[in-house]
Amino acid sequence: MTVYKIYRILLGEEPVHYSDEKITDFPSAGELLEKKPKPGIVLIDGIKGNKTSDMLKVFWELVELRGSAEFCFAPIYISRTMKQLDIMVDGITANIEERLPEAISILERGARVRRDALIDNYNLRMLTYMYVRGDSYLLSPVCAPFSQWVYSYPHIALLLDSASKAAQMLRPEDLSGQDRLRSFRFDTEIMMALKAVAYLEDNGYIERYALVDRIRKCPKCRTGHLNYVDICPNCGSIDFEKKVMMHCFTCGYVAPDSDFRKSMSFVCPKCNTVLRHLGSDYDHPLESHECNNCGSKFIEPEVKADCLFCRTRTDPSDLTVVNVYSYKLSEKGSAAVRTGTMQMEVQLFDGQNNLKFGYFCNILEWMREYRKRYSDEAFSVIGLKFSNLYEVETSLGEDIYNKIMDELIFRIRSMVRSTDITTSSAPDTFWILLPRTALENSRILAERIEKLNDMLEITSEKKIEIRARSFQIPAEDDQTPAEQYLAMFAEEL
Ligand SMILES: [Zn+2]
Ligand SMILES: [Zn+2]
Ligand SMILES: [Zn+2]
Repeated sequence: MTVYKIYRILLGEEPVHYSDEKITDFPSAGELLEKKPKPGIVLIDGIKGNKTSDMLKVFWELVELRGSAEFCFAPIYISRTMKQLDIMVDGITANIEERLPEAISILERGARVRRDALIDNYNLRMLTYMYVRGDSYLLSPVCAPFSQWVYSYPHIALLLDSASKAAQMLRPEDLSGQDRLRSFRFDTEIMMALKAVAYLEDNGYIERYALVDRIRKCPKCRTGHLNYVDICPNCGSIDFEKKVMMHCFTCGYVAPDSDFRKSMSFVCPKCNTVLRHLGSDYDHPLESHECNNCGSKFIEPEVKADCLFCRTRTDPSDLTVVNVYSYKLSEKGSAAVRTGTMQMEVQLFDGQNNLKFGYFCNILEWMREYRKRYSDEAFSVIGLKFSNLYEVETSLGEDIYNKIMDELIFRIRSMVRSTDITTSSAPDTFWILLPRTALENSRILAERIEKLNDMLEITSEKKIEIRARSFQIPAEDDQTPAEQYLAMFAEEL
């Protein structure tokens, strides 16, 4: 069994940690990282953490640790509870021995991870963080009432690329008090974490587990600190009053009852009729509010959601409804961690000729049978694989990437005949079955598809690469399952 190191970041003179386990002390995360340390457990100890400045110190150590490839997924503990920080660490303990079983299980799963792949892939770091915490780990949203984003995933925010950059730029000692407070709110990263989680979900790396809450956000700036105000439906003023209104039957005048009061009786200020009997002389109309700004009278004020951030007033029914979920790692996400590569899902083919992979294999086997009987019935298969999609998407951004892919998909689809059958065996691997097509002819098509590589004008370091090869199932073999053939062919792509 591997013996794991326990590192303690000792930030002050008041450690509470005691244990017989062997631990190595460092004055800061920076100095620990300089030693190119082996994987291990980290404990931050030494300060009480009830002052904001103390919490900030711990926070930036945490940002630095999580921002490193070495400790981005490591088990990290703090020795005392520190409010908002508690949810960003694996736990609070004054005795690391109590936490060793879970910490070691994190490190053991971490040993299966391709660490070199984590150096500049921050999305993969997030998946790895989830992966090493076990199959039952849930990425749960945290309600942050003081943040205008309301819910986010702060432990994920620590893993963002920008978090580590912010840590380098904003060391606590360089900040004045006001800046410290602001930086502690970590707002940009909190918002980026929401985007990162949405990206991982959209691409199938994480799956929704449970609906945790539903909140409403300003449609303009997407923040959630809203004040519901009631306003005059005529002029929008908030300055109106609820009043008992009177309605004179003689002339139809409507006004607050105070306007009608004259010594002991009610007299219409407009037509001077004395109003004696409710129901025959006057009544109380439904309009019971009067605006002090424009004077209009109305039954119910209008309710608007006033965004405290951008001050846009929105009809409550027009607010953006956001469901907040907890997530677990998907099969695809787990595979990405184990292989160290993230693949983008491509919807290359659709329509009725696009089959599930299993059916596609059945048809291949049926065609092989058919060909045995009618030897002039040639058929061939083209395998198609995209590479570097993830890298290009990350470096060019979603919009440009989508444009390129749309064009590419359009061109490839237009080369496929209506009698060809298609399928997909992986997020980036596709198959076209060409009936009545000899290998030489499908090779020509494969070459034409590969020519598309020359058409792509991509400015990023890595280029999208399409590989297309034509294959044939040998006539003499009728035993090997088609799936096995396709697996062999895929190796050549
Ligand atoms: Zn009147
Ligand atoms: Zn008004
Ligand atoms: Zn707003």
